[in-house]
Amino acid sequence: MGVMDQILEKAVEEEEAVSYDVLVVGGGIAGESASLDLADMGFKVLLVEKEPSVGGKMYLLSKVFPTLDCASCISTPRMAAVSHHPNIILHTYSEVLEIRKLSESDFQARILVKPRFVEDDCTGCGQCEKVCPVVVPKEYDFGLRGRKAAYIPFDTAVPKKALIDLDHCIFCGQCERTCPVGAVNFLQVPKVVKVRVRAVLIATGYELFSIERKTEYGYGKFKNVITAMQMDRLLAPTRPFNAVLRPSDGKEPSSIAFVLCSGSRDRTLNNPICSQVCCMYSVKQAQLLMGALPLADVTIYYMDIRAFGKGFEEFYQQAKAMGAMFVKGRVAKIEETENDDLVLWYEDIENGGRISKAVHDLVVLSVGLKPNSEIVEVFKGEVLERDELGWIRSRDENVNPVETSIKGVFAAGCVLGPKDIPDTVLEAGAAAAQVAAYLNEVGV
Ligand SMILES: Cc1cc2nc3c(=O)[nH]c(=O)nc-3n(C[C@H](O)[C@H](O)[C@H](O)COP(=O)(O)OP(=O)(O)OC[C@H]3O[C@@H](n4cnc5c(N)ncnc54)[C@H](O)[C@@H]3O)c2cc1C
Repeated sequence: MGVMDQILEKAVEEEEAVSYDVLVVGGGIAGESASLDLADMGFKVLLVEKEPSVGGKMYLLSKVFPTLDCASCISTPRMAAVSHHPNIILHTYSEVLEIRKLSESDFQARILVKPRFVEDDCTGCGQCEKVCPVVVPKEYDFGLRGRKAAYIPFDTAVPKKALIDLDHCIFCGQCERTCPVGAVNFLQVPKVVKVRVRAVLIATGYELFSIERKTEYGYGKFKNVITAMQMDRLLAPTRPFNAVLRPSDGKEPSSIAFVLCSGSRDRTLNNPICSQVCCMYSVKQAQLLMGALPLADVTIYYMDIRAFGKGFEEFYQQAKAMGAMFVKGRVAKIEETENDDLVLWYEDIENGGRISKAVHDLVVLSVGLKPNSEIVEVFKGEVLERDELGWIRSRDENVNPVETSIKGVFAAGCVLGPKDIPDTVLEAGAAAAQVAAYLNEVGV
């Protein structure tokens, strides 16, 4: 058990003090959009995010398909808006421990607010981060670089406040001595806040499929095999990288391969479904790479290209016209050469299905999505149903996809199933409208 877990066990339970109309769990684009819609309608919203900042995965992306708009330019104003809206109370770095339905339109929730060991006086100046001597892998950059034990999650984090990762802190006291406003406080304690809410909206999104499980692809073993999320981080115009270099030697790659359906449509890995966004985010990254590295070849290995949305087919044709190569065939295995290049073995379907191989110097695995739905476990007395793959089950897929198996509990975004950002925002809007209708129907 880590230091932090031991501290969290001693959380101080507070008496129930406040009530809200809606508890929104998850501060990605789905949770932010639904919270803003509800707050604009006059409902009091409590938004709980488990990470130290809101933003979800969208904040981490470079640009978005098919418009190639800058992802953080769209997401940062929403992140700021949820923290400033008078009808939204935001708890980041917090976990919902329990939700119990007391009666029709009356839920009690217990929320663990973790200590950041930095008081609200923090100005986000980053001095503590500079002097902290401890470096650990940075979660927001998927291991591509490190962060300190005293750190600000990222430049435009909301809230932009430091926190101290006690599991890695060596208690040297440098941060405490350096903080210009004396905000570091190692004596902060966790608290459990009890609230009453009339409705709940689940927006806990997705996780990336653990592609280490597909050992044939060598992720985690071969340095120049990376995931598409790592590639999106490398391409993000908002830095810290804004450059694509081979992890093994820091050289610009000259031949980049994308392996679609890595961990999706794969029964052997118990993830038989299509992750819906991988074709298009790979086509997006291929276009961005051809701009960033004009001399590099980009090849996409695919089973089928699913370009079903508005403007997607044109976007796919545009990538082809720019020179991206598309090879129909599932990659069976990746091997590493002596100079850290990669050999891809694949079934070349358009040439009689023969087994072929090709050499590339950087491989991007277009990894599928898995549900982030452990939240079902916090419901006591009632069962929040999931389907056999773990996605939250809609009460009725056809006529009411945002209602769940518990009356008064709604869901939106990728926790219901893989989807892109426009569909996520649409679903969040639909869920907000359904919550509002429900609250108006059940009254005060
Ligand atoms: C590599 C890659 C590239 C992509 N590129 C594009 C693109 O160009 N265009 C596009 O349209 N889509 C793209 N997508 C898809 C896009 O990321 C999703 O559509 C979008 O992020 C879904 O938002 P969400 O809010 O449902 O989930 P998320 O972004 O996953 O947000 C969920 C939030 O809930 C929080 N949370 C989870 N569990 C809990 C809990 N128990 N308590 C409290 N909070 C919790 C998480 O920390 C997170 O902040 C891409 C996906 C990937 C993997």
